[in-house]
Amino acid sequence: MDVQIEGGELVVPHPSEILTVTRGDLCIRDGTIVRVASEGEVPPDFSPERVDASGCAVMPGLVNAHCHAGMSLLRGYADDLPLMRWLAEEVWPAEAHLTGEHIYWGTALAVLEMLKGGICTYADMYFHVDHIARASRELGMRAVLSLGLIGEAPGAEQDLERSAELVQRWGDDPEDMIQIQLGPHAPYTCSPQYLERVARLGEQLGCGIHIHLAETRDEGQQIEHQYGKTPVEHVCDLGITSVKPFLAAHCVHVDEEDIARLADEGVGVAHCSISNQKLGSGIAPLAEMINAGVCVGFGTDGACSTGRLDIWNEMRSGSLVQKGTRHDAEILPAAQMLHSATRGAARAVGLEDAGQLVPGYRADVTVVSLESAHLTPQHDILSLLAYAAGPGDVRDVYVQGRPVVRQGQLRTVDEGEIISRAAACTEDLRQKVCENSD
Ligand SMILES: [Zn+2]
Repeated sequence: MDVQIEGGELVVPHPSEILTVTRGDLCIRDGTIVRVASEGEVPPDFSPERVDASGCAVMPGLVNAHCHAGMSLLRGYADDLPLMRWLAEEVWPAEAHLTGEHIYWGTALAVLEMLKGGICTYADMYFHVDHIARASRELGMRAVLSLGLIGEAPGAEQDLERSAELVQRWGDDPEDMIQIQLGPHAPYTCSPQYLERVARLGEQLGCGIHIHLAETRDEGQQIEHQYGKTPVEHVCDLGITSVKPFLAAHCVHVDEEDIARLADEGVGVAHCSISNQKLGSGIAPLAEMINAGVCVGFGTDGACSTGRLDIWNEMRSGSLVQKGTRHDAEILPAAQMLHSATRGAARAVGLEDAGQLVPGYRADVTVVSLESAHLTPQHDILSLLAYAAGPGDVRDVYVQGRPVVRQGQLRTVDEGEIISRAAACTEDLRQKVCENSD
């Protein structure tokens, strides 16, 4: 299938300014970008569907580098609690009642929200992964999925086997829209022996690892007490970061040596600014990590700990909290934030050929209408995208060249059905939780 997105303001890489904007056409064939303005060649038999993008910014699709999509059924369920009480008293007891059907529709709800917000790929850690993969594929979103592994749980052994089965089941997806990683939950829920087994399995299966790391001060103290190391030192010393891609969510409580280690080991970091603030976990040293060469992307975390699955919001929050708390308006400029939200996050989740508008890359493209009041006038399009745009401005979304959102509407699955089925699943879950607490 050939597509030509015409006359838009194209957000493209720039050698010294990270990103820049050039006006022109973007040509796509069979899911791959073939020409960007004057770069690249269109095949001689190119006969595209032409899409007018005048008055729009055409940018690489956003990537959500850390999510628990199925948790969207728990949005607003337990707010204003610190992480460990939030997990132990509210989230884990409710999650115990989640069925595959709940997770299918919860994921569909999350994917609907993400696609309409311009996100083309997400990395997820949860359970009932077959249902998550199916919902993602049916709606048309690329997903990098992992089964959450709690090393101390009774089913920990079977979960390693289940993870290996998932890799076999989804690993030969011809369109490469579903990728499977291993998801050890965190160093405080998985023993060193279990983490080493996960790493061996990752090497054996050739798949990456997705973990929560250095999220709270309590975690840092616990790991220090048990192993005499920081969480980053602990996992690096176990050798598990040699499995690639290695994606670490949060990395809030990291010191200078930890940051150097993350950079040296090629760890991708999913920075979850809003989740970290909402759960009172702290503020990650985002500027230091980026300046040290750590590959950083933005993640929403689950809807239950962040409210919205909105990378525009994460990008803005991530930048502004750093500028404000350091009294430094010059750090983390707009182009850097947009780069982390697209290319940085794509690399962090293990997609080397995604996240920028370059010939030969996957055609993950978000078209943003610039016609609304809050995007007028257009002195600087990169600034508008970083500081003023939001999910409601997204007009079209292409995932691997396929138009999944056009004129702000999902084209693959009926939106009304997703919302009503997710609401019915939430009601069912609520009843099950109530029956159990009586
Ligand atoms: Zn998380």
